[in-house]
Amino acid sequence: MYSKDNLHLWSRGQGHWQGIPNSEWNDWRWQMRNRLSKKDEIARFIKLSDDEAAGLDIAAAKLHVSITPHFFNLIDPENVNCPIRRQVVPTCSEGDILDYEDNDPVGEEGSMVVPGLVHRYPDRVLLLVTDRCGSYCRYCTRSRLVSNAQGYGFHPQVEKSLDYIKSHTEIRDVLLSGGDPLLLSDSKLSSILTALADISHVEFVRIGSRLPVFLPQRITSGLLDSLNAHPNLWMSIHVNHPTECTVELKDACNKLSKSGIPLGNQSVLLRGINDDIETMKSLIHRLLMMKVKPYYLYQCDLVPGSSHLRTPVAKGIEIIKGLRGSTTGYAIPQFVIDAPGGGGKIPLNPNYVESSTDDLWVLKNFEGKSFYYQSV
Ligand SMILES: *Cc1c(COP(=O)(O)O)cnc(C)c1O
Repeated sequence: MYSKDNLHLWSRGQGHWQGIPNSEWNDWRWQMRNRLSKKDEIARFIKLSDDEAAGLDIAAAKLHVSITPHFFNLIDPENVNCPIRRQVVPTCSEGDILDYEDNDPVGEEGSMVVPGLVHRYPDRVLLLVTDRCGSYCRYCTRSRLVSNAQGYGFHPQVEKSLDYIKSHTEIRDVLLSGGDPLLLSDSKLSSILTALADISHVEFVRIGSRLPVFLPQRITSGLLDSLNAHPNLWMSIHVNHPTECTVELKDACNKLSKSGIPLGNQSVLLRGINDDIETMKSLIHRLLMMKVKPYYLYQCDLVPGSSHLRTPVAKGIEIIKGLRGSTTGYAIPQFVIDAPGGGGKIPLNPNYVESSTDDLWVLKNFEGKSFYYQSV
């Protein structure tokens, strides 16, 4: 397991799956076929608490459970509070639904111009290309539609979405998400990226994916070739805890970087998982070592049954404040709330302005000392 003062990345190798031929273990389709979903599959390797056993029953109608062998190996079998375990193994708390929680917590349905295409900001769109993920995070913003446990019946209309993008010349940025876009076949991905490359007003394309973390085996040379179908592709990965920073993740990131894809990371602030400065620092330092820029730190969305994973808003600001001045500026993500009701991402920052008049700004530095700046 990772330790706070040891920055070395770690590996469990094949962990619980020692007998499996290497060629199968390294085959992403084998990993997908052998995901752990059912109670008895999980209980073979870790002793489930009563809370988890009951949580697994609730999950069936909410958001499926599915854990790749690679990610499952990172779970500490002895510890029910293991930060990896709590992200993917449900507990009874998922049945506690609060009245201000919402199936569509960031108001995407209201801006869905084509099934799967969300046009909220003037110049950029979110294109959801699948409802499948490598594993299902229990706090998923799109719990309503991914895994189809709630019978949403998501059918992304990619062709129609591409037509929409083509006819809206104000769109210069397309974000592919889902579900996880890297679960599409190489040829499907390359056809979408080629189509986007052919639209002259689209300058910038990104993929949001957690597969480098859940399924690093997916980063094959064939996939890298497909990703090259777009000349300006970036990728946002999703790492929440230093334990996720394995040798395998680093190798996957290296391959992506070497093929010219800049990498950012989006984390979700989760109670008891990464909501302290030391854990966050350890995470972002590892990310920099993997050439990944920490991009956003999200306040956890008001997803039904996620209150046990949420932190007070002030916690995120406190963490950012603790990072500023005590580590590399590049390592510090922007803390945001994706506003309920479709307001979009709103940045929250510690307050560094003590007072200001038209020309005099009194500023507080990272040590709390005051400094004066004469403005024009
Ligand atoms: C997050 C998001 C984007 C991209 O926002 P950036 O701040 O540019 O990363 C675009 N559209 C929607 C609907 C989003 O949720």
